[in-house]
Amino acid sequence: MLNPKTHDREFFGAFGASSIIVFLPLVVSIFSFLVNDKYSLQGVSLDLNRLQQIVPSSTQEWYDLAFDASSWKAYLAWFFGLVVFDKISPSKQMDGTVLRDGTVLKYNINGVYVAGTLLAILAARAYRFNLNLPELHFIYTHQLQLTLVTIIFSFAMSVFVYVCSFIPTTKPNGVGTRERILAKGGNSGNPIYDFYIGRELNPRIGSWDIKMFCELKPGMLLWMLINLSCLHQQYHAQGQVTDSLVLVNFVQLFYVLDGVLNEEGVLTMMDITTDGFGFMLAFGDLAWLPWSYSLQARYLALPENTLHLGLWKCALILALKFGGFYVFYSANRQKSDFRQGKLDHLKSIKTKTGSKLLCDGWWAISQHINYLGDWLVGLSWCLLTGFQTPLTYFYAIYFAVLLLHRQTRDDAKCREKYGEQWLEYQRRVPYKIIPYVY
Ligand code: NDP
Repeated sequence: MLNPKTHDREFFGAFGASSIIVFLPLVVSIFSFLVNDKYSLQGVSLDLNRLQQIVPSSTQEWYDLAFDASSWKAYLAWFFGLVVFDKISPSKQMDGTVLRDGTVLKYNINGVYVAGTLLAILAARAYRFNLNLPELHFIYTHQLQLTLVTIIFSFAMSVFVYVCSFIPTTKPNGVGTRERILAKGGNSGNPIYDFYIGRELNPRIGSWDIKMFCELKPGMLLWMLINLSCLHQQYHAQGQVTDSLVLVNFVQLFYVLDGVLNEEGVLTMMDITTDGFGFMLAFGDLAWLPWSYSLQARYLALPENTLHLGLWKCALILALKFGGFYVFYSANRQKSDFRQGKLDHLKSIKTKTGSKLLCDGWWAISQHINYLGDWLVGLSWCLLTGFQTPLTYFYAIYFAVLLLHRQTRDDAKCREKYGEQWLEYQRRVPYKIIPYVY
């Protein structure tokens, strides 16, 4: 059977899915109502007077914010401009995973060209406009409107891919049509749950892969632009840039570029191989990521939160960042090299599927030592904002929850896939993420 029915539901089924669909867009919007020129937090206490000045009091005001014409034009130009760019950029073709019907999809890998060209255009425009870029000023002054635009756009995208998942597609041999390949977890038959978790595994228009595109480009690169817009604002409003905001830009740009430049690594990630493309990924990639990951920069750009860290604090935080990155990068690299047959001398367990589980090097320390490295990188971003507010530590808390949840999902997947050999791996490597702790 091409598309087996989904019986196990995650996130507490349709109830959990509908709660997340309502709750997470609210959280992202609240961030933008708190962090703006009427900054409404003092530590953990809310300044309601300031908040009232920014939260719309009538339906018309809400409508004007959410459907601000200039913000919609800018975002649509950004998204579809990137689509065109993605299509015309030079790329190398790589194979994805083998699908249930035995076919293998081709992916165009071009992150280097897309990110490189975007940075080159920005640099040229910075020179042309003497460091005063209208597009960065626009992003900074329209954060609230753009947040709402990305939320609505991600809803529209999720509806589009959900509806399309029911339309038969052409058979691989080009003759006749057949059902689309659905995600194993996204075919429960409950519309809310399937809409949230993602019904179709690889929605495509022609050869353009919607999930792969959204995973790295429009959201990640927008995050980079939001951070730059904060630095731009600080420079023009205060006539200075602080070490804290420069470093937030630097370390997060490093993360964005590492993701975009190593685009092919995404092809083996659960998001591409296993998850369907629905609200969870569309909203996560397009709205949640740029607006919640940029909280540190948006907070530091406000004049009342100006922070000079000094040399020692900067050096210690950078050491944490690069230490975490080293663990994250070399563990992922080691697994990838091993899977390509380059590290056959390392100890491993042969599984019933024919592939091997590495239980040496980084993969003998814990089952997901890469998650720990990644989390330490995220913690370093938060530390750059000092200890004035828990808001900027949101990322570290959220990311810890995400990684713990991801570990349990991956554990279930590997137990099903490898059976006894996975249990043997767990006996040899008992810690899940943090050695001697968990
Ligand atoms: P992993 O890189 O840990 O990959 C897990 C998969 O690798 C398993 O499903 C299994 O797949 C294979 N595997 C597991 N153990 C072994 C082993 N011992 N030897 C060989 N293969 C093994 O997890 P993710 O794909 O979840 O994450 C990849 C990276 O992305 C991580 O560094 C994570 O921190 C990061 N990430 C970042 C996010 C963000 O928002 N910033 C979100 C999610 C992830 P197989 O079927 O191939 O055997």
